[in-house]
Amino acid sequence: MKSRPITLGILGGGQLGRMSALAAARLGIKVHIYTYDEGSPASQVAAKTFVGKYDDKKKLKKFAESVDFASYEFENIPVETVRYIREFRPVYPDCRLLEVSQNRISEKKYLNDIGIHTAKWAPVRSAEDIGRAVKVIGGDRFILKTARLGYDGKGQLVHRRKDDPARSWSELNAGELILEEAVDFDCEVSVIIARDMHGKSALYGPVLNEHKHHILSRSVIPAPISVRTAGRALDAAHLLADSVGLRGVLALEMFVTKDGGILANEIAPRTHNSGHWTIDACACSQFEQHVRTVCGLPVGDAGRHSDAEMINLIGRDVTKIAKWYKTENACVHLYGKSEIKDGRKMGHVTILKPLTSSRKKSL
Ligand code: AMP
Repeated sequence: MKSRPITLGILGGGQLGRMSALAAARLGIKVHIYTYDEGSPASQVAAKTFVGKYDDKKKLKKFAESVDFASYEFENIPVETVRYIREFRPVYPDCRLLEVSQNRISEKKYLNDIGIHTAKWAPVRSAEDIGRAVKVIGGDRFILKTARLGYDGKGQLVHRRKDDPARSWSELNAGELILEEAVDFDCEVSVIIARDMHGKSALYGPVLNEHKHHILSRSVIPAPISVRTAGRALDAAHLLADSVGLRGVLALEMFVTKDGGILANEIAPRTHNSGHWTIDACACSQFEQHVRTVCGLPVGDAGRHSDAEMINLIGRDVTKIAKWYKTENACVHLYGKSEIKDGRKMGHVTILKPLTSSRKKSL
């Protein structure tokens, strides 16, 4: 008797696709990658790569017809591309979540509409709007961000009440911006949630996240926050996943305020950098959950057997890799990128630690 393996298509060729493809291989699932670069990190470990642009319908159709299910590994994939693939094969997570998360205004509005608190914010479409938004939000310090295509701190600046709105407006030079109150947070955390076709979910976190130059530099699990605050963060992620009928994986990034409250900052409709430790510290990683849920398999056990610290290797950090190869309990991951660039994520290291909490799951 023959058994035909499942083939999963992933739009995007970065490290998230690479780690999903590695997890898929363990489950006997083949991965086809669609990207513009033959030698991409994901292509190096995938069964097949389709090289093309995200608007090349002929190539996209071929790619779609070669797989059973499709997904994506970065949130700035054009929604039209995902809609087109969906004409041929099921794509998860759903386009709606992708669309909401691609624009900071619709993202914040959606979160507020379902009852998840965020920093105070206002949409900005002109220099005059900045002045108005400053008054509506109140306070002295604000973060002005482009509504679209911002990541790792790109497309944002600090605006003070006394600053010239015209100057801040022209500095970002984008049609649509959002002004947010600058939150004086205690720390930043994230929760990653996987949800399958039957609505069963598995949660990781909250994870403590530290950034350098707006790029994630270190994640620690468990986050050193109170059980009550952790519960609020987990509840927010759960609520979000249920509200969109998630099938797949998403991450919710949040600020922990000084009084232990939670303010959601960003939704990532995909696996997340702050969940890389799950490969080495959990029975079933966020990447395996991604593959399972998209391909119609049940979510796996998200319980962790170890606490962990994840350190990103950014740019030239990777030249000091020799130290990590010799470090006890360190699991080294490199993404196969041939060119070292400032700010580029080259790999990460997860350091496993003894489990300190009896609450193995989700805390
Ligand atoms: P983002 O691109 O929204 O993920 O922002 C990148 C980083 O900038 C966050 O992880 C925070 O460290 C900081 N940041 C963003 N928005 C705010 C805010 N409203 N208040 C304080 N810090 C922020």
